[in-house]
Amino acid sequence: MPPRCEACGIGTVRIGKLPRIGLRPLVYVYKCDSCNQITSVEPERKEETLRSRSGSMRRPRR
Ligand SMILES: [Zn+2]
Repeated sequence: MPPRCEACGIGTVRIGKLPRIGLRPLVYVYKCDSCNQITSVEPERKEETLRSRSGSMRRPRR
């Protein structure tokens, strides 16, 4: 489901998807029809945040 526009609160339309490249996560790009505001969503980032909160296992130590 597309997110709501941050500027006017009207629903957005998905205009593109950026695949994951290297360290950059997958990104969905949405655009608001009425004010042309661009909103990007990183669906994989939420999971990472949740995981790092419950236990920081993946932090390299020196
Ligand atoms: Zn808008």
